Amino acid sequence: MANTPYPQSYYAASANAVPPRPTLQGEVETDVCVIGAGYTGLSSALFLLENGFRVTVLEAAKVGFGASGRNGGQIVNSYSRDIDVIERSVGPRQAQLLGQMAFEGGKIIRERVAKYQIQCDLKDGGVFAALNSKHMAHLESQKRLWERFGHTQLELLDERRIRDVVACDNYVGGMLDMSGGHIHPLNLALGEAAAVESLGGVIYEQSAAVRIERGANPVVHTAEGKVRAKFIIVAGNAYLGNLVPELAAKSMPCGTQVITTAPLGDELAKTLLPQDYCVEDCNYLLDYYRLTRDKRLIFGGGVVYGARDPANIEAIIRPKMLKAFPQLKDVKIDYAWTGNFLLTLSRLPQVGRLGDNIYYSQGCSGHGVTYTHLAGKVLAEALKGQAERFDAFADLPHYPFPGGQLLRTPFAALGAWYYGLRDKLGF
Ligand SMILES: Cc1cc2nc3c(=O)[nH]c(=O)nc-3n(C[C@H](O)[C@H](O)[C@H](O)COP(=O)(O)OP(=O)(O)OC[C@H]3O[C@@H](n4cnc5c(N)ncnc54)[C@H](O)[C@@H]3O)c2cc1C
Repeated sequence: MANTPYPQSYYAASANAVPPRPTLQGEVETDVCVIGAGYTGLSSALFLLENGFRVTVLEAAKVGFGASGRNGGQIVNSYSRDIDVIERSVGPRQAQLLGQMAFEGGKIIRERVAKYQIQCDLKDGGVFAALNSKHMAHLESQKRLWERFGHTQLELLDERRIRDVVACDNYVGGMLDMSGGHIHPLNLALGEAAAVESLGGVIYEQSAAVRIERGANPVVHTAEGKVRAKFIIVAGNAYLGNLVPELAAKSMPCGTQVITTAPLGDELAKTLLPQDYCVEDCNYLLDYYRLTRDKRLIFGGGVVYGARDPANIEAIIRPKMLKAFPQLKDVKIDYAWTGNFLLTLSRLPQVGRLGDNIYYSQGCSGHGVTYTHLAGKVLAEALKGQAERFDAFADLPHYPFPGGQLLRTPFAALGAWYYGLRDKLGF
């Protein structure tokens, strides 16, 4: 029997204790079978259970094994592509709906943490840091754009003010979002899984869905069992492989890497990030970082197209960290890991329905901690028969990568090289 453990990471090493979960054996029957126990799957399961559905979750490895248990932990609002781009592509009515929802995911996380008393080190406050005047102009227009949709809690930071919140000389300014913030991502997923179980939901681990029998009464098969359901939600994102070929065709798994320092001590940590906000810069290939509860710096960045694991993660990410904080040159790196997110060509999420009863959401292209929580709510609404918000996402146009599955990696890498060059030249 397969037994896939968590990858070695700071999060796995500091995870809250959880009871062992069973592997599916034999046949079960449920209202909704959710494939994947990341935030998309768990958020869907929770909303559905709160609305009276019976839910069975199948997880190939362990709860939060994918991006949800490995990410930077940054609660970043909105989507990986902004609402003005959406507006140009799909028109004002749909953009209005999506714009109103752009900050909902962060609220859902806070509601979940409070309602189910999830211990995940939640902190308020996220900073977008500008490396040049073009970035700053972008933040100013982004603030105006988000305010058009009712999100008015944002504060621009000039060059002096940003020094108060991050001790990095590279920034010319930034924007503070107090509805952003950070969490221990794996502990959030584990807390949400416990909430699912507290409402009667069942989660099977080490139980990969290997085949979906489609039709009026769909069945999801695992190696040793099967789930008969009225509905299926596919939430495997970058780890789904080819289980649903239609979903694999228009998306590409990409790796991104994270390192964690040894504990810095209260004094040094406070000099780096005095308010304990998280930070991401405004580059296309961006760096992101924050402190942990025990005052380590978690620093992430870089993209590997096609999701191959780089041999030496520290060699890739440490120089980025030292560029931001040269004062950390003697600090030891305790953990380094990689995780996969799912890229789409438009960088907008793919949401939809296959036939009448198979629903999916995937591909939020990097910024997914908040979106996936919203996605769970929107999918649950659609299953309840209220599809307006689901349709606003489902109607977003999506295209296959040029070159198909064979050539999508080199094409995307070429695109990233171009954007990386623009970042370096400050365009
Ligand atoms: C290193 C890294 C850093 C990131 N940092 C941030 C950040 O700071 N802020 C932010 O907003 N976003 C960040 N993201 C993105 C964010 O983490 C993801 O968008 C989000 O977690 C995706 O959640 P998900 O549930 O859709 O997918 P996942 O969390 O990947 O979950 C999918 C789950 O499905 C399971 N699965 C797959 N196939 C099957 C199958 N056949 N049967 C059963 N189970 C299956 C997998 O094992 C996995 O557990 C980061 C991503 C990575 C990789």
